[in-house]
Amino acid sequence: KPEGDRGSMSKKNPEYDFKWCPGCGDFGVRRAIEFAMIDRLEETGLPMENNVVVAGIGCSGNLVHLLEGAQPYGFHGIHGRSLPIAMGVKMASPGLNVLVVAGDGDFLSIGGEHIAPQAARNLNICAVVMDNGVYGLTKGQSSPTTKLGEITSSTPYGKMEAEADPLELYLTMGVSFIAAGFSGQPRQLAKLINQGMNHQGFSMVHVQSPCTTYNDTFEMLKGNPKKGIDPLIWDVPEDHDRSDKGAAYSLLQERGLPVGVIYEDGARPSLDARLEEMQGRARKRTTEEILASYEF
Ligand code: SF4
Ligand code: MG
Repeated sequence: KPEGDRGSMSKKNPEYDFKWCPGCGDFGVRRAIEFAMIDRLEETGLPMENNVVVAGIGCSGNLVHLLEGAQPYGFHGIHGRSLPIAMGVKMASPGLNVLVVAGDGDFLSIGGEHIAPQAARNLNICAVVMDNGVYGLTKGQSSPTTKLGEITSSTPYGKMEAEADPLELYLTMGVSFIAAGFSGQPRQLAKLINQGMNHQGFSMVHVQSPCTTYNDTFEMLKGNPKKGIDPLIWDVPEDHDRSDKGAAYSLLQERGLPVGVIYEDGARPSLDARLEEMQGRARKRTTEEILASYEF
């Protein structure tokens, strides 16, 4: 598709003519991903076709259709299954840079069961999760990160489950690179996504991306001195030792939401690296030999 031409897709298939609400945090995440990919192209000299964006379902997943400029490959999958699809893409073609885009709804509820196995494998992909604490696309139902007691369209008397703490979950599940970002800081977020893409293993970039229609948390996150609202987000201190899991846990116990790299383990080999090493050791057999092995 030519650069800047957003019309051709809608003309061919109006079903995919998505629009985000004005001010939606996902615009900032989209911008950050575009910045991060352009930086990556410059760093690696590889073409945009080296990138694949695998999307889940939800407002966040529609990002795959809304990227502007040079287009990576895109795969709009099914609800909660962005990680298995990303695994298929990466293992079929390990040279590709695979980026997952998903929301708190699909990634942490139905998709939650896929995080620990991919962390154990150290699947070499980067997942960007846009957390707005709500199911936006289906009109504001509570999601795994909606706070306990919150009133939403599906919890008219208050949510009965406690909210998940995604960063702590990733850390406990063994994700080897964990960063936290804010959609209102696209340049800073782009750097985190770029580091996540460069990390050799499973990287998570968890982004606070407010839903301006059903759960507008912009002011709470950024703060508002005129109203006496302190910002919830704060930068990870420069002296934070990201290789220290204990220090990462301690950081997450502090009030508010850290922005920056929380944890990084660069020593563990990734799944594709281990596969390549194993393929080097495995005895290669011809089709005839394999067939003959079934004969009695
Ligand atoms: Fe964004 Fe919320 Fe609108 Fe979806 S419903 S596009 S998350 S503001
Ligand atoms: Mg959501």
